[in-house]
Amino acid sequence: MNETTIEIKHLKPPAGPEQFEHRNLKQGEFWRHVPAYKDVDETTFLDHLWQQKHAVKTPDELLDAIKDLCTPEFFADVADGFKRAPMAVRVSPYALSLIDWSDPVNDPIRRQFVPLASTLLPDHPRLTLDSLHEQDDSPVPGLVHRYVDKALFLPLNTCPVYCRFCTRSYAIGPDTENVDKVGLAKTPKQWEQAFQYIAERPEIEDIVISGGDTYQLPAKNLTLIGNALLDIPHVRRMRFATKGPAIMPMKIITDTAWFDALTQVVDRGRSMGKDVVLHTHFNAPEEITWITQKAMNMLFERGIFVRNQSVLIRGVNDTPERMQLLVKRLEYVNVHPYYVYMHDMVKGVEELRTTIQTSIDLEKFVRGSTAGFNTPLFICDAPGGGGKRDIHSFDYYDRENGICVYTAPSVKKGKAFVYFDPVDKLSPEAQARWAVKEIADQMIAEALRKAGDAADELVLA
Ligand SMILES: *Cc1c(COP(=O)(O)O)cnc(C)c1O
Ligand code: SF4
Repeated sequence: MNETTIEIKHLKPPAGPEQFEHRNLKQGEFWRHVPAYKDVDETTFLDHLWQQKHAVKTPDELLDAIKDLCTPEFFADVADGFKRAPMAVRVSPYALSLIDWSDPVNDPIRRQFVPLASTLLPDHPRLTLDSLHEQDDSPVPGLVHRYVDKALFLPLNTCPVYCRFCTRSYAIGPDTENVDKVGLAKTPKQWEQAFQYIAERPEIEDIVISGGDTYQLPAKNLTLIGNALLDIPHVRRMRFATKGPAIMPMKIITDTAWFDALTQVVDRGRSMGKDVVLHTHFNAPEEITWITQKAMNMLFERGIFVRNQSVLIRGVNDTPERMQLLVKRLEYVNVHPYYVYMHDMVKGVEELRTTIQTSIDLEKFVRGSTAGFNTPLFICDAPGGGGKRDIHSFDYYDRENGICVYTAPSVKKGKAFVYFDPVDKLSPEAQARWAVKEIADQMIAEALRKAGDAADELVLA
């Protein structure tokens, strides 16, 4: 071989360290910095039953876990936050161990799962509990049929963790001091109504199985639901939705019965020419560790495709750098970044919402930084039941007052849907206008008029 080196002309300057940060996954026994887990070995920490059993559900359990990692003031703030929250609290040891306890107030994992009283903001004046109006599109309990050819099946109402920002806080988790939950169908007997409805609607080709969270389905029920839906001839596509990989990835590694049940449904679907995939919900780049990578590799090996749906959350992923890092880290572990949703207009979490303009700016930054097929679509699930809209496709956006009007001709023809930016992100003058109901009504009417004749009826959340 000829040893002479060829001099190659590099047109591009070398990539900076920020271009490699997504490969820098947390390694080792990172959980041991939490006092309660300091003697927990890898086998125990990876045991999904241990994770479930040690999930933190009360302020006292939190204190027991983190002990002197937090100050008495922080603890009092948490205790008060728990009392006021519309969602029950449940945090897995995995998620708890990812929190930077030197600055818990600003930590992106803490913000998602542990409520604080001190950071609460007043709700937007136009906000309701079921902002997506899922109950209006629900023909039988636990089924939402909004779009023509797809349906959302909600077979249970529990999750491995509870997200403060949950769009289904009207139904998910146990009742709280502030909210009595709506009942979903939760037993195989009750699911039969949903299967029958789907069987009677030949236009439905696509089923999202969500909840709650399909991590919580016992393996035999996952098999039962998977087979019942595959047996309906016109069902072509199914997605099992779970937050699990983001907050308890070890279940894929150690809950063999569940993982095998999922694999069997996917394989049976493939043999029938039907597409069965997993949809998950990572929001912060820190959620992806070596454990996640191992779990995602196991899914990849079995040919189970995984898509991700993030929620855009203030202080979690609302800067261009953090959103780009999340997207690149997801694709690095073979998870397809599918959607980034606007935070729904739900009660008690105004400090987590941000503006439509933020989403537009993030999209501009992320697009072009990696493969187009791994660039997520930034969307707004239009309040009032308009369904998902491309963030840029508004008919009118009053940035000054934070009023964005969407129409959805294939979902609810003739109707307009409005998303409101959080009031605290607006100018002092705009904030003062929102304080007076008559002025607010006028601003909304004006936005609707400027949106043009795309719609003749306004649906408010
Ligand atoms: C999100 C959603 C779906 C699935 O929509 P895609 O855009 O195909 O991911 C189906 N039904 C309801 C009610 C939904 O909210
Ligand atoms: S996992 Fe999903 S359904 Fe459960 S609380 Fe979080 S957002 Fe809501």
